[in-house]
Amino acid sequence: MEGAVVSEAPDRDGGRVGRAIHAFVAELYPICRSITGDGVRRTLRLIQREVPLAIHEVPTGTRVFDWEVPPEWNIRRASVRDRHGRVLVDFADHNLHLVSYSEPVRATLDADDLRAHLHTLPDHPDWIPYRTSYYSRTWGFCLRHRDLGALADGPYDVLVDSSLARGSLTYGEAVITGTTRDEVLLFAHCCHPSLANDNTSGMAVATWLARWLASEPRRFTYRVVFAPGTIGSLCWLQRNERRLSRVRHGLVLALLGDPSALTYKQTPSGRAEIDDIARYVLAEPPRAGRVIPFEPYGYDERQLCSPGFDLPVGRLTRAVNGGYPEYHSSADDLALVTPERLAQSLEACRRIVDVIEGNGRYRNLSPKGEPRLGARGLYGSVGGREPKTRERAMLWTLSRSMGETSLLDIAVQSGLGFDAVRDAARDLERARLLRAVAAAPSAERAATRRPRPARRPRSRRTSRTTRSAR
Ligand code: ZN
Repeated sequence: MEGAVVSEAPDRDGGRVGRAIHAFVAELYPICRSITGDGVRRTLRLIQREVPLAIHEVPTGTRVFDWEVPPEWNIRRASVRDRHGRVLVDFADHNLHLVSYSEPVRATLDADDLRAHLHTLPDHPDWIPYRTSYYSRTWGFCLRHRDLGALADGPYDVLVDSSLARGSLTYGEAVITGTTRDEVLLFAHCCHPSLANDNTSGMAVATWLARWLASEPRRFTYRVVFAPGTIGSLCWLQRNERRLSRVRHGLVLALLGDPSALTYKQTPSGRAEIDDIARYVLAEPPRAGRVIPFEPYGYDERQLCSPGFDLPVGRLTRAVNGGYPEYHSSADDLALVTPERLAQSLEACRRIVDVIEGNGRYRNLSPKGEPRLGARGLYGSVGGREPKTRERAMLWTLSRSMGETSLLDIAVQSGLGFDAVRDAARDLERARLLRAVAAAPSAERAATRRPRPARRPRSRRTSRTTRSAR
């Protein structure tokens, strides 16, 4: 890739790309997703329309580390009506009205018994809360607090026409093959129902990022995974455990359309290369993003960075999870996410990829004194860059390239900017003054690497895997 990667700078309403991502968010938003079920499959099929996506099914009951794939949940209808047939709450009006994973029920209850199954947000009486009950069997409805006032003594007819049955958990994976086996892992959770920021924004930005990644040759292989939170990422980790040593960098993508500043959440050590790259990119004007330390709370970085995997994965986000008032409520809707912010989030992702692709370590092949740049035609304005900047970038790169210091480190130390240093390294490599040093796991990762566990016989894979090449 040449130069900066921002080919479609977002204008005031996000430009063409921002509008396209927002339209995709709007298409995903109404689907009732959960950690299993047809809502996830419908979502993945929409993503598959945009990028080649392999869709994997993991059967109910599969042991996944300390967890187990639960029964598959699907929902047809759910409502609460009074004795006159008047509707108190109806799933057909908003899919947040039903507690996700509600077990089937058909019962007549008085108001007090019903109340134990109702959830509201008294501080936000016009918002419907989002509630789940994946691992304990129950049922419940979520409604606007102001509608609770209409609750008379009853009786009420409760209907939850759902199924909890043997089936499978579904996740999708797009692989964009690069020229090396080193991998970049990108993860978006796909298990929330009608919540726009959390996480249709992440799915949509990841989809558009994958489209862009596939549009030109890459050095790294990119693996873009759309999986239900926690249990889905654990399924992916279990099935890909032997491949994890190839992962050089990773990002969890979530909450990318809300008004907060772009935010990078570090890896547990804060010392992975992706930490340096994201810090650099978020500080580039006009982004003015922020960097926050790791904590073992959040999205799938919880699993990917757990000590048994210890992957160099950070998170690109805007609001910190739970850190915006509309979080996990019906107010996390299509108005909260804007084309402009979605486009900015995508652009930050692209820039991170740009630096990942261009970064590296080099060895100066003529380290005794300065080599004669003029004799090699390396002085002067080539490539449209200011001659002074180009020369300084070459001198900096030669001076710091002993195989240890990355181009990004040189860019930061020199203040010249990453693109100038990367282009200088390319020119010097062409002039046989520099040689790339093979990428090695970072010292920090090498130091913390555990001995490989003895290989166990692989359990028979019983799942169906459907693959579609678009
Ligand atoms: Zn959430």
